Amino acid sequence: MKLAKNLERLGTESAFAILAEAKKIEATGKKIINLGIGQPDFKTPKHIMEAAKKAIDDGHHGYVVSNGILECREAVCRKIKKLYKADINPDRIIITPGGKPTMYFAISMFGEPGAEIIYPDPGFPVYESMINYTGSKAVPYNLLDKKDLKFDPEKILSLINEKTRMIVIINPNNPTGSFVERSAIDYLAEKLKKYPNIIIFSDEIYSRQIFDGKEMPSFFNYPELKDRMIILDGWSKTYAMTGWRLGWSYWPEKCIEHIVKLLTNSVSCVNVPTQYAGIAALDGPDDSINLMMKEFTQRRNLIHNLLNNLPGVECSLPGGAFYAFPNVKGTGMSGAEFAKKCMYEAGVAIVPGTAFGSNAKDFVRFSFAESNENISQALENIKKMLG
Ligand code: PMP
Repeated sequence: MKLAKNLERLGTESAFAILAEAKKIEATGKKIINLGIGQPDFKTPKHIMEAAKKAIDDGHHGYVVSNGILECREAVCRKIKKLYKADINPDRIIITPGGKPTMYFAISMFGEPGAEIIYPDPGFPVYESMINYTGSKAVPYNLLDKKDLKFDPEKILSLINEKTRMIVIINPNNPTGSFVERSAIDYLAEKLKKYPNIIIFSDEIYSRQIFDGKEMPSFFNYPELKDRMIILDGWSKTYAMTGWRLGWSYWPEKCIEHIVKLLTNSVSCVNVPTQYAGIAALDGPDDSINLMMKEFTQRRNLIHNLLNNLPGVECSLPGGAFYAFPNVKGTGMSGAEFAKKCMYEAGVAIVPGTAFGSNAKDFVRFSFAESNENISQALENIKKMLG
């Protein structure tokens, strides 16, 4: 068997391996509190589930168009209009099985040897993995220079050269939980007007999970960039729908025929009852989001306090998403050593920072999409572990 060379360059998302390891330990009878995987611990709201059941009863069992049924794309446009006051044509919206395939398709479309793609380190690991897979040069910008772990627009701009094809921005960021506000994004968007050949890839999957009532600085705010931006968003985090596999994205007009071909060559289309569930989510009330954010705010404050009370641990206040990303250097351990000890001695699954890029050796990621009780218990176990 001779495997393709590209496979050697493909990375992975370690949070899934950690989930599997935690399950294995649990099978031996030991309790593990899982603060590893990034998914809301809430149920998908009832009206969304009902819409999927109705779609099944109504006979929506067949293939549909690859880019997503028009009703679903129109619902996405209605939401974009409501949230950002932007008028978007549903032809520019693509429905995918989860938000993740958007990364895969976009980087396949623009990445190749000789091209450079700028991306955050630490950041969601699929970006670096896919950039390497396509043979492009991965050009990271470090989020750890500042204590608040926010990216610096100037730093991104300083990495641009004639080979740059794409810039990836994740805001709010996974794994750091850092959130960059509107003024900095306005500045970046203004400066990027000077580079008409560069695609701006804005990962806004956590757009509805921003703390302290702050505004989501979506790239939909910049209509001048609309022909060279890709925006990734979806249902997974906002509506507690990670397992449904449903995402949406916005694309430049020139890319549409290619993305449709990539979809037809791979998944054909997203299963239809799920798309009907997606419509109900977008058109339905925001009560579930508000409730979840109330809970997440409490948990953020709790975990931030408890982490900063641990000896040798320092954590900035997350501004969005549901992750805390403390520096554990003061414990004398690397992030990887700390995470391993937490799993085997404290019974707490977390993810080492290096799962998100090589810069974050001293860091670990805690997901606080868990109950207050489990967060408190996990941190108490870790406190004991640290003596
Ligand atoms: N972007 C970021 C930054 C993420 O953290 C994730 C999931 N953890 C995704 C996209 C993909 O989400 P989905 O489950 O919809 O594929």
